[in-house]
Amino acid sequence: MPTSEIRKVAVLGAGTMGNGIAHVFARCGFQVILRDVEQRFLDRALETIGRNLDREIKKGKVAETERPTILGRLLLTTEFASVAAADFCVEAVPESAELKTRVLKEADAALRPDVILATNTSSISITQLAAATSRPERIVGMHFMNPVPVMALVEVIRGLATSDETFETTMELCQRLEKKPVAVNDSPGFVSNRVLMPLINEAIFTVMEGVATPEAVDAVMKTGMNHPMGPLELADFIGLDVCLDVLEVLYRGFGDPRYRACPLLRKYVAAGWLGRKTGRGFYRYS
Ligand code: NAD
Repeated sequence: MPTSEIRKVAVLGAGTMGNGIAHVFARCGFQVILRDVEQRFLDRALETIGRNLDREIKKGKVAETERPTILGRLLLTTEFASVAAADFCVEAVPESAELKTRVLKEADAALRPDVILATNTSSISITQLAAATSRPERIVGMHFMNPVPVMALVEVIRGLATSDETFETTMELCQRLEKKPVAVNDSPGFVSNRVLMPLINEAIFTVMEGVATPEAVDAVMKTGMNHPMGPLELADFIGLDVCLDVLEVLYRGFGDPRYRACPLLRKYVAAGWLGRKTGRGFYRYS
């Protein structure tokens, strides 16, 4: 289906990424069906979208008069049946291969055969997920960055069976969302996590070995390399459990010891020090 004919988009999962993806589609003129399993997750998503829209209004990115129109484009539902009307679908449920396979199979059965089914996975093989559906040529990775309304990058990931048409349509769609799509082939960690996670891991090793404090490591990278956030600050923001999971994917995927997670990272995760979300990681948050 050409991008110009895509009007209605289904987003599966209304969490951190799903509500951001729904927000951006609605802001850019698409009708959005946002589906989650419980009403309370949808209520929370709507609250977040409203708050983020207000921030965009304050910054002058969105006109105040547009607010009700944008919110009016959202249909929030727990009913899977509503998803069938979509012209494009993005899956953003939690990072479990088993869950994603189940959700993609359900969507595959419900959606028209010409509809592209994109996954926002940050580490699971697109090729593997595609193989579980009857439309592997219409499965593509659409890896948005957090926070979705703010970050311009989308890694558009081509699985082994992804067709050129699916890939091109998805790239064009990202442009309609005012994002910057970058083409990537399916490989563990894609590009973003393959490059970022070893940096974060090495920063943690320097702390563990007493080479420098977290503040010093972050200061070197911010002041010396012009990174807007230091690697440890960023790790706390992403979630240390998420960082560990991605490193395990890289380690398993390549079988290369250079992706071995730092023991200090494992220790922090075991302690429940997961970063910002638990109030403590490499830094403390009140
Ligand atoms: P999250 O836990 O915040 O949200 C997931 C949502 O999916 C939850 O609201 C959950 O109730 C819902 N859900 C569970 N089963 C469902 C089903 N069967 N149908 C519909 N909804 C269902 O997770 P997240 O952080 O938004 O991550 C979602 C995906 O995005 C993951 O694959 C993750 O790896 C990827 N991702 C996350 C980030 C990030 O920084 N958080 C960045 C890039 C990509």
